Amino acid sequence: MYAEIIIDITNEALDRAYTYHIPEGMDLHVGDRVTIPFGASNAEKTGYVVGLRENFDYDPSKVKDIVAVIPDAISVQEQLIHLAAWMSTEYGTTMNQCLKTVLPVRRTVRKNARRIDPVRMYQNEQDEYHDLNPAQAQAAAAVIAGYQACVAKRTASPVTSVPGDTETAEPESTGTSALAEAKAAGEAAPADGHPVPRYLLHGITGSGKTEVYLHIMEEVIRRGDQVILLIPEISLTYQTVRRVSTRFQGRVAILNSRMSIGERFEQYTKCERGEVNVLIGPRSAVFAPFERLGLIIMDEEHESAYKSETAPRYETRDVAYERARLAGCPVLYGSATPSLTIYSAALRGEVQLLELLERAHAGAKLAETEIIDLREELAKGNRSILSERLYTLMQEKLEKKEQIMLFMNRRGYSNFVSCRSCGEALKCPHCDITLTLHRDGSLRCHYCGYQTRLMKLCPSCGSPYLAPFGFGTEKLESYVKKIFPTASVLRMDADTTKRKGDHERILEKFRKHQADILIGTQMIVKGHDFPDVTLVGLIAADLNLSAPDFKASERTFQLLTQAAGRAGRGAQAGTVIIQTYQPDHYAIVLSKRQDYRAFYEKEFRFRKLMGYPPTERLMTIQLASKDEDFLSMVSSAAAEGFQLDCSAEGAELIGPLEASVYRINDVYRKIVYIKHPSHDIIIRLRDRFTERVRQHDRRGLVLLNFDLQ
Ligand code: ADP
Ligand code: ZN
Ligand code: ZN
Repeated sequence: MYAEIIIDITNEALDRAYTYHIPEGMDLHVGDRVTIPFGASNAEKTGYVVGLRENFDYDPSKVKDIVAVIPDAISVQEQLIHLAAWMSTEYGTTMNQCLKTVLPVRRTVRKNARRIDPVRMYQNEQDEYHDLNPAQAQAAAAVIAGYQACVAKRTASPVTSVPGDTETAEPESTGTSALAEAKAAGEAAPADGHPVPRYLLHGITGSGKTEVYLHIMEEVIRRGDQVILLIPEISLTYQTVRRVSTRFQGRVAILNSRMSIGERFEQYTKCERGEVNVLIGPRSAVFAPFERLGLIIMDEEHESAYKSETAPRYETRDVAYERARLAGCPVLYGSATPSLTIYSAALRGEVQLLELLERAHAGAKLAETEIIDLREELAKGNRSILSERLYTLMQEKLEKKEQIMLFMNRRGYSNFVSCRSCGEALKCPHCDITLTLHRDGSLRCHYCGYQTRLMKLCPSCGSPYLAPFGFGTEKLESYVKKIFPTASVLRMDADTTKRKGDHERILEKFRKHQADILIGTQMIVKGHDFPDVTLVGLIAADLNLSAPDFKASERTFQLLTQAAGRAGRGAQAGTVIIQTYQPDHYAIVLSKRQDYRAFYEKEFRFRKLMGYPPTERLMTIQLASKDEDFLSMVSSAAAEGFQLDCSAEGAELIGPLEASVYRINDVYRKIVYIKHPSHDIIIRLRDRFTERVRQHDRRGLVLLNFDLQ
């Protein structure tokens, strides 16, 4: 047996793994720390095992032996390497790619850069401390008890028996084929029960989940342990960051997507050195190099931003659990609208359910919600984007100097431009998607970034009758400004938040009541706490319902429930107006009632009937290539033989189909779905399919992308 070993753990050095021979009788695992002879002088160095392999096509007499395994406590780096090995198996990606995901890039910030400390930026207000109400206290006590039990275990048993230590995944490293890797992945050990506790804090919006987190964190920090607080995106949870960094001044590090690599590394270093006890950040914060990790909190657990869009396409929910098992600490998930996955796990008893059913703020009530049928508006002759009811309420609120939020899940001015003569819509030349018109007259592709000017004549038929259709946030803004000329309006979407600090500026301005109306995409929907907002308008609530995704209803329900939760958080009651063409859809009706449990039951039955997650596992394999014919050939040929593999395992195979957007950036994409209740069978079939693809595509021209749900 041979081992792949990296000497330095810097991201730049990861590509250079060296092969060593494993002496007879040495028991070695991926992630182990070893001493090895290195270089011409054979000086002893420390390295990490990143892969194991049966044979090695190189002169065996030239391969050196590993000297010894270092039987140390599991260091944080070993934990992270174990985590990478687990991810490599789970998500079908190379160990290298996983290591790059898990380990921070080491780069220092340039000295002369004039910067504000990213944490200080948030601490500009008084801490609003609350004693917990009975429901909050009960939830906090449960998690603290779980944490204390973990601490007791940690001190009682030698560190080498950290749960998850028995990992037998043996993915290979550098230069190995996806096939060999896939093989190693297939032999991975399944999860061994649930050695660390998991909790789901299901609390309605405004029930004080954040306050519960803060109290639990206090206890963990008091004992000198460390906490990872995951949030979907800083922009979505500005409020949380502000409260945590104010409460634990000087003990908090922050990550966000707008930081430079050097700035991120600076924050990671603070974690590594133990200078802070808390890291707040998006999904990559789950890899915080904390030596004394005591708790992982994942706020807004249902958020889709927690799923990585690039390989390894990991689910933060699962990685957090694996990390917690390696560290021997609990995980706390929190949401007003938990994912079906976590809620069903809670009902099965795998995750302990903690509930907050009332708003925390004395007197704060859930908002009154009204559903407006847009078809009736049209029948009444109202062709405006605002229903009569919403318009009237806006007028009322503006007179009373109360604040309004308008939500529209589409940015830009008009969502497409088409020709009234020939009916052609203007499309991106590189993608199968219509171009979006922006107010500056540019047409942009929201998939690849292509940009052009709006032409005078139709490129298909030459007629001058090009007309914009549909609505985006930009058009909504100019419309609202036109009909309410004295109101001050802010807009927050991807186009207005391109620079660092834009989010914070807009939100802070609105929070200080320097504007009456905030218009935005889903960015404005979540986690913000604006006490003066008494009206929330959801302009086109069903925009996402018809998306080709089995989670379309779940996403819509979550979005509407969260948006509705924005109104009436202060003393005044709030109103929520949901404008829709599908007023009877259960996702809309039940979000009006804020009835999570009823939605869950209904949606779960639908998933069960259709064999969708969480009742079964679903593997989506995307095959991509610039060569359309070759892609067709390979995907059909691979799927043909693969049908037999699936039948043998009793799994369902769907496809190959064209992806819903078949071409993006001139790359064609086909999709194959595999469904089966067993996680391990799905993983095995994924690897089988990969083999079959490579039989027809020996040069590896077709790119494979796996998505496990
Ligand atoms: P969530 O995260 O569940 O939406 P928050 O933690 O933001 O809720 O709390 C909502 C509001 O209630 C905040 O303004 C918060 O300061 C307040 N709050 C939280 N806990 C209490 C409490 N125990 N007593 C009074 N007010 C509270
Ligand atoms: Zn035309
Ligand atoms: Zn494009």
